Amino acid sequence: MPAPPDWKKLGDEAVEITRQYLRIDTTNPPGNETPAADFLAAILREAGLETTTLESAPGRGNLIARLPGRARDPGGALCLLHHLDVVPADPSEWSVDPFGAEIHDGYLWGRGAIDMKSMGVMQLMTVLILAREQVALERDVVFVAVADEEAGGVMGAAWLTKHHPELVTCRDVINEGGYGLTETKPPMMACALSEKALLWVKLTARGQPGHGSMPPDDPAIGKLLAALGDLAAHPPALSISPLVERTFRALAARASAPRRTAIEAILRPEARRALPALARRLPRYQRSLLGDVISMTKLEAGYKENVVPGAASATLDCRLVPETDPEEFFGRLSARMARFDVRCEILFSDGPCGVSEGPLLPLLEAVCTEAFPEAAFAPVLCPAFTDSRYFRQQGADAYGLVPVMLSNAEVATFHGIDERIPLDGLRKGCEVVYEIVTRACR
Ligand SMILES: [Zn+2]
Repeated sequence: MPAPPDWKKLGDEAVEITRQYLRIDTTNPPGNETPAADFLAAILREAGLETTTLESAPGRGNLIARLPGRARDPGGALCLLHHLDVVPADPSEWSVDPFGAEIHDGYLWGRGAIDMKSMGVMQLMTVLILAREQVALERDVVFVAVADEEAGGVMGAAWLTKHHPELVTCRDVINEGGYGLTETKPPMMACALSEKALLWVKLTARGQPGHGSMPPDDPAIGKLLAALGDLAAHPPALSISPLVERTFRALAARASAPRRTAIEAILRPEARRALPALARRLPRYQRSLLGDVISMTKLEAGYKENVVPGAASATLDCRLVPETDPEEFFGRLSARMARFDVRCEILFSDGPCGVSEGPLLPLLEAVCTEAFPEAAFAPVLCPAFTDSRYFRQQGADAYGLVPVMLSNAEVATFHGIDERIPLDGLRKGCEVVYEIVTRACR
């Protein structure tokens, strides 16, 4: 094993690397991730690692660096995955320059500070320590930094796993998807084992077109509105899927007695009828986890005040729990919309991705419980898309775990305004990632 790392020095280095990384604008669109990939590659090469940068399109760099293990089994690798791109930031809304990487009030500020350049640096520090010490662990450790996550990963993780699977082959992945939350009761370290599947559906109604002075019997817009009205009035039933139930149970185990009773009451089968009332009291984020959800996201019809259009269309963004079969869901939706003479077509479906639950999970729980004794380690379902999906579909177990405790206000800054990470959280995260990797791979 390598000598115990000097965390004070390494923490300073991690903060400095993160600052430089945040200053490289990788706003997606357009992404332009190659300069960020080159920046990380140069640091890795200085520590003696070989790196590979592959562009899925000009400017769309993806970086891979593999630290070979003694077992000489690339398929058994532990993959440290993060994305290079960030969502846009409007400087006029921010109180600091989103790409200035300022430090004040105990925070490092900038777009990507949480989502997820600092996690990339926590992972990078582990790889740097191992490379500098020149100590091979038993398992391969592969550092992967991808483009395009914020637009669905088509030019990043999806492209890499499809076109260069041999470079990213692994058994386990650690990625984003769960964080520590200080304000849940009790506080929790969320570890995402799965995520909701994405299904985008286009609805189209057709009717007789013609002059606005002579309304037809079957107006396309009228049919579409009737169908959408039915969907709005009768959304998918709320439910507690098995993974969400596990989250509640993990919290209950560590909660105060009255709180535990309240959580357990929700989980009783007879409480299911009270779910709608309960859901109304939950924040939007938690409510979204109670079963399949449908959001109406686009509406298109008509081009002139006095012309009745022959077609009207709408787009639905459906997010499905792991137990729902997307094809079956689509079949039921199509049958329901057919009653309004509205046709459904799938615009995009990423299919189910399964629930990751391999031998790494108890180790993650053990390390996190030692590092964050105040928090309950809780398996969770991630409501949104992450690149973990592509790796799960390749057969790897992927865990969404960013080991930093955040308040609700701090969580609200990612994809939001004034994104920032507590400096002590970033420093501690480096230690936790190192502990996970060295224990998992020794
Ligand atoms: Zn992210």
